[in-house]
Amino acid sequence: MSQRHYTFPPVFNEDEREQFARRLSSWYLANRRAMQWHGADAYSVWVSEIMLQQTQAATVTDYYNRFMKAFPTVHHLANAPIETVLTHWSGLGYYARARNLHRAAQVVVTQFGGLVPDQQEALLSLPGVGRYTAGAILSIAFNRQVPLVDANVERVISRLFVMDEPPSSSHGKANLWAIAEQLVPATSPGMFNQGLMELGATVCTPTDPACPQCPVEPFCKAARTPNPAQWPPRLQGKKIVQETHCSVIVRNNSGGVYLLKRPQKGLWGGLWEFPRVICIPQESPSVAARRAAAEILQVKVGTPSVMAVIRHTVTHHNITLYGCEAVPHEEPVTGERIKLVPIDCLNDYPFAAPQVLLRTALTNRRDVEVQQALNL
Ligand code: SF4
Repeated sequence: MSQRHYTFPPVFNEDEREQFARRLSSWYLANRRAMQWHGADAYSVWVSEIMLQQTQAATVTDYYNRFMKAFPTVHHLANAPIETVLTHWSGLGYYARARNLHRAAQVVVTQFGGLVPDQQEALLSLPGVGRYTAGAILSIAFNRQVPLVDANVERVISRLFVMDEPPSSSHGKANLWAIAEQLVPATSPGMFNQGLMELGATVCTPTDPACPQCPVEPFCKAARTPNPAQWPPRLQGKKIVQETHCSVIVRNNSGGVYLLKRPQKGLWGGLWEFPRVICIPQESPSVAARRAAAEILQVKVGTPSVMAVIRHTVTHHNITLYGCEAVPHEEPVTGERIKLVPIDCLNDYPFAAPQVLLRTALTNRRDVEVQQALNL
């Protein structure tokens, strides 16, 4: 048995720990949601866990299926161009995850013979793989007695043991990992870890924990208080910033639209978008669309009309994105970063999530126009 270092006093005796694990794992087996990556190999677990960071499971399912169809093995992923990988990630957000996954797949192929490592140190050396992802791969795919802590597990453990330090503090986080390490059993650790996450996702939810339905309620200290949802304590959050953006959709005579490739670094780095500006205070979408055409495409346009309004939240920004169509007075000059793309080919380009919605609004509207034309 591997040597284990506790930095938190034992939370259970041996008997309690066994009962806790048995209750949780039985509940998980009976109640888990159908997800394609249950019981999968290390590569599948890895891809799914990277996708699940910052994204709800219900959203991930379709992306995961399409991604695994396009890149069924780590070799397929490593050999694919990054543009193709980003296109399959398009709409999931947090694109650094896709870039790291791609780079890490190349490392697995070149340094580990194409086999996802089964050692924590080797896993942690891969781009984008932190302690959580390593714990998921080791426990779920390799049946290793290794803990994992994600936001759901943070919440469950904080409530079980009424932890008074916020999980976002380094000391609070270290305590949660130490307790998770105490709890994970030698038998079926992957099942147990998935059970903890699933409990947080479906029963011990952020604002409304369903304690009477909880399989580990007898062990829970927060359930003995009037308001279990007060755990975990939160650090004062950053202020949410409201922003208005405007993208100009400039179409040429043959129905193509002009796209801009964003710089590699920064938010939405390397993705494509309809030329976009951040509106200045009191600037109307129409004026902002003209400015986007002038500043980015270097052309003047006729009066822009609002085609779609998208609302999107990213990190601490609530963004309202206007999509305005406009007819150019002259053809914009294209190049490496500005392309004229037929509407039918827009899906071949990786877009950030709000721009995907704009693209969908544009292609849906085009389909209606085609249908109307056919009916004439
Ligand atoms: S008893 Fe309630 S607060 Fe405690 S873990 Fe279960 S759902 Fe969460």
